[in-house]
Amino acid sequence: LVVRGMAIGVWDWDIPANSLDWSPNALRILGLGPDHEVGDAGFFFDRVHPDDIGMMQDAIQRHFEHNEPYAPDFRIRHKDGHYVWCHATGQAILDEAGNPVRMAGSIQDITADRAINEARRKSEQRLRAITQSAVDAVLTTNAKGIIEQANPACEYIFGYRPDELVGSNIRVLTPTEHRRKHDYYIRHYIETGDSDIVGKVREVEGIHKDGHVIPIELAVTEYKAGDDRIFIATARDLTARKHAEAERENFIARLEETNAELERFNFAASHDLREPLRMIGNFSQLLLKNYREELDDDGRRALEICAGSAQRMQALLDDLISFSRASDDLGQIEAFMPADMIELAQQNLSDAMAASQATVHTVHLPGSFRANPTRFSRVFQNLISNSIKYAPDGETPRIQISAAPYEQGWLFTLSDNGIGMKPEYCEQIFEPFKRLHPASKYSGTGMGLAICRKIVNGAGGRIWAESQPGKGSRFYVYWPERQETDASVPANRQDEANGPAPAQHGGQA
Ligand code: ADP
Repeated sequence: LVVRGMAIGVWDWDIPANSLDWSPNALRILGLGPDHEVGDAGFFFDRVHPDDIGMMQDAIQRHFEHNEPYAPDFRIRHKDGHYVWCHATGQAILDEAGNPVRMAGSIQDITADRAINEARRKSEQRLRAITQSAVDAVLTTNAKGIIEQANPACEYIFGYRPDELVGSNIRVLTPTEHRRKHDYYIRHYIETGDSDIVGKVREVEGIHKDGHVIPIELAVTEYKAGDDRIFIATARDLTARKHAEAERENFIARLEETNAELERFNFAASHDLREPLRMIGNFSQLLLKNYREELDDDGRRALEICAGSAQRMQALLDDLISFSRASDDLGQIEAFMPADMIELAQQNLSDAMAASQATVHTVHLPGSFRANPTRFSRVFQNLISNSIKYAPDGETPRIQISAAPYEQGWLFTLSDNGIGMKPEYCEQIFEPFKRLHPASKYSGTGMGLAICRKIVNGAGGRIWAESQPGKGSRFYVYWPERQETDASVPANRQDEANGPAPAQHGGQA
């Protein structure tokens, strides 16, 4: 009854008679009915997996001869042909001469247990492979902060071998001044459940074995295993990232300084050149006026060229100064009506507008727009001035300006019926001093569009052109709109309005 009531199987082997008996539970492991005829030991040994048979015979031998415990795990063939993992135990009875006369024990199906163990082992292996190969330091601690596990990356980051860390308090990895705080954090968290660390990713300082401080990104999570609390800390070394950031900032600062220096130089040089140039211009004019009769034709022509060149250089310098003054920041932000600023641009161009009878037609402009109005007007003044200047001979310039919402602001489009240009020039024309025509045909310095681009880029926008020779041009200006909450950046130089009047770019040279 006891044997039947047990979940495990029982076997009994009469060795001299070579008669084997298996309990119904034992037979069930092999898929056999309770009345199955067992017979002799061959019943068992014939069914043991060929790879395990040697090990089984050994185990029995050692048990008989040295009384070593008999408790093997082995595979045995089921009635259906597949193998079942079993665990057996047994005890032999020896006669007075020391010969085994009987052996009995238990047998148990452990296939399911083994499958579970195998799955667990594989999962542990996988997990270990992940933590072992991780570039981040991964540590587990108990609730007291004692390190229980550490991966190889700990040595790379903190200089301690994993086995040196296991058993130490996690405090060894925090700079001395933070240690007390760290203990408090853990205690506080355990008592209250509130935490600034657990469940969050933070940038903190760690300390290397050699004493240097390491910037790290720390993520701590908690795992509850029964009553045990395990903290898992992942630390990423930010040294390289911080270096790269510092280098980039340094580089940007140097670049800004060089830029500012260049602009200061450009401004000062242009300014200082104006005075002697003005003298050359004035005195050439004076000579032409007062000594015209005393000069022959060649002398007069030479002086006229001299005066004209001085005037042209004056225009170049004015535009160069305007370029260096065209701020590359947001400037003072205000709400304004774009139509008003385009109107202002036309007023500034009133002479050229009247002479050419140009028309400017505006459609779909936003009713209100937040940006720097002076710079906005300046850009459109340059574009309209070009459309007038580059109109085909004998044709009235017709200009259309429209707008549509675009990205974080508006896309303004100005199209004209001008002479146009080859598409491959559409990008070059924004470079300083880039011109497609000789000054004798169209006056100008080649700075107007460079100034436009500097202003628009400074506002965070973009300007580009599309054109075909003889088919007019189209200029696109994407201008991001600033929100009321955006901080407006005051111009870093005096405001345009206080400086010399902005050269009406492309003015009569
Ligand atoms: P500038 O007009 O003083 O030469 P810009 O920088 O304003 O300088 O323009 C650069 C060049 O781009 C001009 O010389 C001209 O060849 C070309 N360009 C600019 N606007 C137009 C336009 N609306 N139609 C045709 N060509 C243009």
